[in-house]
Amino acid sequence: MNTYNVAIVGFGGMGDWHHEKIKTIENMVVLGTYDIKKEKQEYAKQKGLKAYSNLENILSDKEVDIVLIATPNDVHKDIAIQSLKAGKHVVCEKPVTLNSQELEEIIDTANQCNKLFVVHQNRRWDEDFLTIKKIYDENILGDVFTIESRVHGSRGIPGDWRQEKQHGGGMLLDWGVHILDQMALIIPEKITKVYCQFIHVTNYEVDDGFKIHLTFESGKTAFLEVGTSNFISLPRWYVLGENGTAVIEDWNLNGKIIRAKGKAEKDAIPVKTAAGLTKTMAPRRPDTIFEEELPKQNADVRDFYRNIIQVLNGKEEIIVKNEQVLRIMRLIDTAFESAKLQQVVDFEK
Ligand code: NAD
Repeated sequence: MNTYNVAIVGFGGMGDWHHEKIKTIENMVVLGTYDIKKEKQEYAKQKGLKAYSNLENILSDKEVDIVLIATPNDVHKDIAIQSLKAGKHVVCEKPVTLNSQELEEIIDTANQCNKLFVVHQNRRWDEDFLTIKKIYDENILGDVFTIESRVHGSRGIPGDWRQEKQHGGGMLLDWGVHILDQMALIIPEKITKVYCQFIHVTNYEVDDGFKIHLTFESGKTAFLEVGTSNFISLPRWYVLGENGTAVIEDWNLNGKIIRAKGKAEKDAIPVKTAAGLTKTMAPRRPDTIFEEELPKQNADVRDFYRNIIQVLNGKEEIIVKNEQVLRIMRLIDTAFESAKLQQVVDFEK
């Protein structure tokens, strides 16, 4: 098996994370980095890496096989295109670009140069997502009609480039790209309608949160929400099927499944609320439901890099496919349009 040499462009939080992960991967080595900030160059040297003095020096280094881009979002496209044209394979952080048109340009260049271009959609290896996908795929709740996916924090947008539009800031591009990608993988259907509302609590230049409603071809719906001013978090996942409900509360996969033991519960006892009675909303009697554990899935996010090595050796198909990433970027374009128009917008016919 060949060993692939990587140079990381942008050695901030994520560049460092990639370096630490790649250290544990056989047949992949980080040779060096380039960052516009001096202190990051010094930091790279302290870690035993070569600090390239500019991008051109990486591109002209014949030892470098793969350029890994971990800069802010607005410069991904130019660095990717230059690297592909210089004959390098490219791994790029998400969101790959600011819109789908920019991504099309990169994909065309990768095809012309016959080089691998792959986006780091690492949250495909999130165990909570894989657990929900399993529940869906195995029909554990019966026919699922709604899935809700939420990510909540309470500290606003980080105070760096993520607050600035010109750098591709905002939560739709940041977290939206992950949770839309996950939802599209869970419900493998055309998405017909999109409605997006932005939240602006701590930031007005870009969204510091959003709510998106998706309608799928079969009529199933999904709701996705990112909030950064939520001091009480709602569950990470909430899934409704005709015969049961699943909830995942948090990143630690606390949660459960409740399923009906047979559908009808004729003798529900009405609940007395202050102003009246309700049988419709009465809690289920314990003997009419099962409570079950989640079918928790395990994953190793480093399979992202292992897959790239196998692909370059002609042994596997790429997991994160460019056409999937392009679809999600088009969905994000449509969500921006919906938020601007304050209307539901058609997506796939
Ligand atoms: P960061 O600000 O910590 O690091 C970015 C680095 O890029 C900085 O050190 C900056 O000096 C450098 N830089 C800026 N412009 C450059 C240029 N033209 N050439 C070289 N270096 C340049 O940001 P981060 O959190 O590491 O995010 C970087 C990328 O990773 C973003 O695209 C972000 O969306 C993505 N990200 C992905 C995940 C994930 O889970 N996949 C998580 C966090 C961030």
